[in-house]
Amino acid sequence: MFSFLAYVPHSKHMHIIFAIVNTFFMDLTPSGAIKKADLEKTETFGVNRVEQLSWRQLLDGYACTECGRCTDACPANATGKPLNPMRIITNMRDTLDAQGAAILAGKVEGLPDMFETVHSKEGIWACTTCYACVYECPVMNEHVPKIIEMRRHMVLTQGEMPPETREAMRNIEQNFNPWGIGWDQRARWAEGLGIPTMAEANAAQGIEVLYWVGCAASFDDRNRKVAQAFARILRKAGVRFAILGPEEKCTGDPPRRLGNEYLAQTMIMGNVETLNRYAVTRIVATCPHCFNTLKNEYPDFGGRYDVVHHSQFLRELIDAGRLTPTKDVLQFLTYHDACYLGRYNQIFDEPREVLYRIPGVRVVEMEKSRDRGFCCGAGGARMWMEEPGEKVNHRRLSHIEETQANAVATACPYCLIMLDDAAKTKNREDIRRYDIAELLDRSI
Ligand code: SF4
Ligand code: SF4
Repeated sequence: MFSFLAYVPHSKHMHIIFAIVNTFFMDLTPSGAIKKADLEKTETFGVNRVEQLSWRQLLDGYACTECGRCTDACPANATGKPLNPMRIITNMRDTLDAQGAAILAGKVEGLPDMFETVHSKEGIWACTTCYACVYECPVMNEHVPKIIEMRRHMVLTQGEMPPETREAMRNIEQNFNPWGIGWDQRARWAEGLGIPTMAEANAAQGIEVLYWVGCAASFDDRNRKVAQAFARILRKAGVRFAILGPEEKCTGDPPRRLGNEYLAQTMIMGNVETLNRYAVTRIVATCPHCFNTLKNEYPDFGGRYDVVHHSQFLRELIDAGRLTPTKDVLQFLTYHDACYLGRYNQIFDEPREVLYRIPGVRVVEMEKSRDRGFCCGAGGARMWMEEPGEKVNHRRLSHIEETQANAVATACPYCLIMLDDAAKTKNREDIRRYDIAELLDRSI
């Protein structure tokens, strides 16, 4: 016993002690909220050296049991990308062990940085920020915040980012959306539908909820149909709602996950100013990325609203008897969980319950579903990056194929784009792709 106790601190078994400490100090703030960088006072952004990490972040390395569950759950790793979340944690610890004495002596000049000792830049860019690694970890290690910090360093301090993302970022700067379509076209999807904007005088009087449309549903043809279906449902339920129209801007999710905190904060502050000017209290979003950012990140910038996702809002309307799905929608389908809705915000039941209430819909679950759901490959600004080798969305399509379902439903515009793309590329267009709002719209 005594020999073992003496041995523990010098062996990998020290995780027995550090796991308890790590769990005690785990981050209890919303997992979907990236820490705000102080752009006024900070001179260097993100991290590229181990000593720049906080003590809590460094503790992760010593708590790690090297069980590999994080890596087993990683969609980037599963499809052959050079990303190994366990190695991010263990290499960080080993680097600290190797450089600790020099760091304490203040001799950090010339020491290899984290992109040489912890993880390659390609690996850091391959992350979809799906959160599966963090969710799986038994000792509450947090891989994603470290990945974002490393991206911040590359983008803001080194000026490096995958070349294909430059255009998306430029589009956000110029037209406030990554698609690059003119900002004044944002409300084109709503033409002829008679949906008021907040700027229109009567809209501001007593609206129940602001519909946050998001860039995907405003500019992507497939997702414009989802926005139209959702608006029709709101009309049928008698909801008094309005949109911001051309005053809406990208919520800041893609630049923030890419590490471009400057651009993200510019978008966030512009939106908060607009929302507060209209004294908005309740927001419904059809995009889980917009929903997560508005709900969990905007409070840091003075934007506090009651934010709901459309799956929650639709279930609320059905429960209140304001919507009654009656027509049969004959579909044998499976439901794909969006990471930013499910793992980040624990919204697993609401979209399923909407589907269960539609007559004729039969739902079969994929093996990787709910908190074990597999990413579509678009999160973390991956939507705007090239993907070498096997595509994450193709792997996800194979999970859908295993169920023998003839359709897949989701509640995220990015997932819809990725699943659409996979079905077309793999010649499986017979598997139909829907947003839950489109199916509900057919039934009422
Ligand atoms: S967030 Fe997802 S893609 Fe990124 S390292 Fe973790 S499991 Fe892999
Ligand atoms: S899941 Fe957690 S404990 Fe297991 S290898 Fe990954 S970081 Fe370490």
